[in-house]
Amino acid sequence: MSLVDTRTPDPKKFIKGATGDWEMVIGLEIHAQVTSESKLFSGSSTKFGNAPNSNVSFVDAAMPGILPTINQECVRQAVRTGLGLKAKINNRSIFDRKNYFYPDLPQGYQISQFKDPIVGEGIVYLDMGKDGEVEIGIERLHLEQDAGKSIHDQHPNMSFIDLNRSGVALMEIVSKPDIRSSEEARTYIAKIRTILRYLGTCDGNMEQGSLRADINVSVRSPGGEFGTRCEIKNVNSMRFAVAAIEYEARRQIDILEDGGKIDQETRLFDSKSGKTRSMRSKEEAHDYRYFPDPDLLPLEFDDEFVAALAKDLPELPDEKHDRFVSEYGITSYDASVLISSRSNADFFENVAKGRYGKLSANWVINEFFGRLAKEELDVSNSPISAKQLGGIIDLISSGDISGKIAKDLFEIVWGEGGDPADIVEKRSMKQVSDTGAIEKMIDEIISANPEQVEKVKLKPQLIGWFVGQVMKASQGKANPQAVNKILKEKLAL
Ligand code: ADP
Ligand code: MG
Repeated sequence: MSLVDTRTPDPKKFIKGATGDWEMVIGLEIHAQVTSESKLFSGSSTKFGNAPNSNVSFVDAAMPGILPTINQECVRQAVRTGLGLKAKINNRSIFDRKNYFYPDLPQGYQISQFKDPIVGEGIVYLDMGKDGEVEIGIERLHLEQDAGKSIHDQHPNMSFIDLNRSGVALMEIVSKPDIRSSEEARTYIAKIRTILRYLGTCDGNMEQGSLRADINVSVRSPGGEFGTRCEIKNVNSMRFAVAAIEYEARRQIDILEDGGKIDQETRLFDSKSGKTRSMRSKEEAHDYRYFPDPDLLPLEFDDEFVAALAKDLPELPDEKHDRFVSEYGITSYDASVLISSRSNADFFENVAKGRYGKLSANWVINEFFGRLAKEELDVSNSPISAKQLGGIIDLISSGDISGKIAKDLFEIVWGEGGDPADIVEKRSMKQVSDTGAIEKMIDEIISANPEQVEKVKLKPQLIGWFVGQVMKASQGKANPQAVNKILKEKLAL
């Protein structure tokens, strides 16, 4: 890989050391399990949680004489992912053998792609909030087999093996060394996961290991030559990714400031201690002896195959974000929150269609998402539908209820269900905009509180106290604009 620095050093990201400032350089290799019914080269199921060794065919068990056959669905998924990463699709790619004896990959080698991957260079955009947009280059995406699992803790002197995962298709997505902070790395992983989920090419489930990252970290003096990197293997949560990067960068800075040098090595992150430790040095690195797998022809497809997949691609997060901003007139920040998943975005659109965008966004983000998070629910098992929330918003827009009453109504609909307009009608929750009724309440309050009336004449901001009294008397149902207007008239403010 030719290493080109595409970023301008940003002093806000520099790390203070004893001898001066330092800058992190990070590149990620993300392994994403391809969403597909069967494995990359066999018809075995990929279902998670099946009994050990039940998803294993002769191919996965590497029986002599058995030949691999490429799974077209995995190829389609890899191409679709490449398109989602705005990357170059290679119409001809090669499967290589990566020699490495894994007890949990019985072939004795992993089928992967080395020199000629299925997907080439692409771009991912990160929304870094007030720090603006950042562009991270994608170096490549290739297809490869996953390994099974060795189990060492169930027998005193034997190891067990579960080959269910062996041969499952993975996409390895390799970034350029364009990432400059742990926060950017976290945002990058989240963005890749969102893109994969929109496309439906990987479920993105980090707890189950469907998505995991190898993190390459080095440090340098700002804008200087790239330093020697260390690779932290198999990080399976965003929180761990941030902790591992912070620890590793500091460790390297301390060594360099002590006059030492960084050994290129593979390290592991221990989530209990929050530290990384050496797994193997470059000298111990495996000699993979890559060569094209003679059992597999080069993988070739034509432009029509790619064009057909491109045509059926769903709207992706970046495009949805921009459309939400222009179509609904909401802020870029709100749009970023709303597009975090396809189902969240769809919910918002169902609420906002034909309604005031900003008000809809506020209600979906603050009340609705806030409440879902509190109850550890998501849109799919929400007790409130988009139609019901839309109904509440309609009642606010028409002036039938105030924002405050709307919150009470939201609680009722959340807990008991029902049609918002019916509930408002039945429980007489309608806002009182009838000026006669409001005037009557105000007259009573004024005549009962002569001292407050004297005070407010000297200090007009005390009008708030009167507004409060009217709201109390009306049980929150008086229209606040009408109350303010009439109060000002009556008190001659
Ligand atoms: P390998 O296959 O040995 O891991 P690659 O060239 O494929 O090597 O690079 C792996 C990752 O390391 C890429 O994501 C790349 O961006 C990153 N990387 C390369 N050089 C550096 C560096 N000096 N500092 C941090 N990351 C780096
Ligand atoms: Mg690597």
